[in-house]
Amino acid sequence: MTFQNLEYKRPDQDTVLKHIAELKTQLESAADEAAFLAALKAVNELHRDIESMASLCYIRHSIDTTDSFYKTEMDHLDEILPSIMEANQKLQITLLQSPHRPYLEAVLGKTALERLELSTRTISAAVLDDLVSENKLVSEYSRLLASASLEFDGKQLNLQQMGPYLEASSRDTRRAAVDTMFGFYHEHDTVLDDIYDRLVKIRHKIARTLGFENFVALGYARMGRTDYDSDMVATYRKQVLQTIVPLACSLRQKQQARLGLSRLFYYDEPLSDPKGNPKPLGDADELMNKASVMFAELSPGTDAFFTFMKQAGAMDLIAKPGKETGGYCTFLPNWQMPFIFANFNGTKDDVEVFTHEGGHAYQAYVTRDDEWLSHHEPGMETAEIHSMSMEFLTWPWMDLFFGKDADRFRYNHLADALMFIPYGVAVDHYQHLVYENPAATPEERRQFWLDVESTYLPWRDYDENTYLKGGNVWKRQTHIFSAPFYYIDYTLAQVLAFWFWQAARNDAAKAWQQYDRLCRDGGKLGFRLLLEAHNLPNVFEAGSLDHFIPAVSAYLESVDPLTL
Ligand code: ZN
Repeated sequence: MTFQNLEYKRPDQDTVLKHIAELKTQLESAADEAAFLAALKAVNELHRDIESMASLCYIRHSIDTTDSFYKTEMDHLDEILPSIMEANQKLQITLLQSPHRPYLEAVLGKTALERLELSTRTISAAVLDDLVSENKLVSEYSRLLASASLEFDGKQLNLQQMGPYLEASSRDTRRAAVDTMFGFYHEHDTVLDDIYDRLVKIRHKIARTLGFENFVALGYARMGRTDYDSDMVATYRKQVLQTIVPLACSLRQKQQARLGLSRLFYYDEPLSDPKGNPKPLGDADELMNKASVMFAELSPGTDAFFTFMKQAGAMDLIAKPGKETGGYCTFLPNWQMPFIFANFNGTKDDVEVFTHEGGHAYQAYVTRDDEWLSHHEPGMETAEIHSMSMEFLTWPWMDLFFGKDADRFRYNHLADALMFIPYGVAVDHYQHLVYENPAATPEERRQFWLDVESTYLPWRDYDENTYLKGGNVWKRQTHIFSAPFYYIDYTLAQVLAFWFWQAARNDAAKAWQQYDRLCRDGGKLGFRLLLEAHNLPNVFEAGSLDHFIPAVSAYLESVDPLTL
């Protein structure tokens, strides 16, 4: 069984809706637990089918956005998914109100039921048309970005292919690359403002119709956050401001000194030192072979996992025209297959495809035999612990990829990870301002961004780029358009990955076992419950970061990357 051979079958709206109605009746009339379980399994089966087809379509569309077949199928799915979700919501309510509910909880666990409850609040018949419009706006944004064909360095490049130039050793190249790339955003700024404005307004309208005060709580519910809220996230952001922002400022100052610059501009930030950022050695095939060695040596489980991924052809890694930007990992339940999508560009990001997306895929692989979908789909903040911790747990193998530059890579990796957190928190804070003030104009939103930027990224200096100085850099952040409130999850997970980094330095074998257990728990528990069950720090508690962040900064203080 290979990815190429997987058969896509268009989910037919009427058939699916009819099936859901039958299953609802079956659940309602289940006389005993056995009958209830049989109906529940059929519901799970249906969800696996729909998710498999939607993911397969999404993957094939993102690999080639010019393929008209999958483009039409994407449009079809955009059209029908909301009404399926709405019918599904009735099914969920039936489950929650069933006399067999205690049995349901025994089968699926408490978190799964809490997620069901949250999920039922995120949709109703009254918002169906608006959900269709929302999906279309997100697709419009993705297509606009995928359409970018930039003339640079004598070539026509997409946004992703600009990556290497943004971290080039030559300052003129970096500046030109930033100007060219944001030139595209600037050129389409009216459209971008308009898409986002319509997205914010439609999301607010959906939230109000569903009985929420604004989109914030709905956004959290959509993310399936069963055990934390925006107040806890605000406490966490405050910790970041107090503990991490000063460290990030100091790292930027050192970077500026290493680069010998009188001002550190935005386009200088990606370059850590004058030697240039470490690049992986070898082409895609060689990197693949190195990744095989790494996973074979890391553990028997990762060896089996990566062998499976290669044999199944479950990876599409090379950048090409018409391909969507970015990278992701997704899961195809019917074939129990994780899939990794990436755009190799010759930078260290290529290695992170194996380590970061590899972490997601490993979790999907080790939980693939659990038939219940809810058990192998963790919340995003949990999923990113799997990916970001894998990035650190694979540190011992970085010599394979970077040779004599391995230690410089390690320093940059850790420093970048720490400096990322203030940015991630800024993106989150910005979205709170946006959705708490849904009537704000695009102009006011620019000011919101400038405010959070000066709070969390006080070193930021855009030189003479008036577009970026005007509060527009966030338009490059796809999550702000397509996945509201997702972004904080990366930062929550990053600080927990630091915890694993420290654990691995103390005892690598023990840290791996703990990581492996965490992956195998998949999506069974809500975030805070999971942290508790695995003896990980509760990052929402004031002062919690002070227990392990200092170890990270001590390491960074002890190393001078110029001597590596
Ligand atoms: Zn990820």
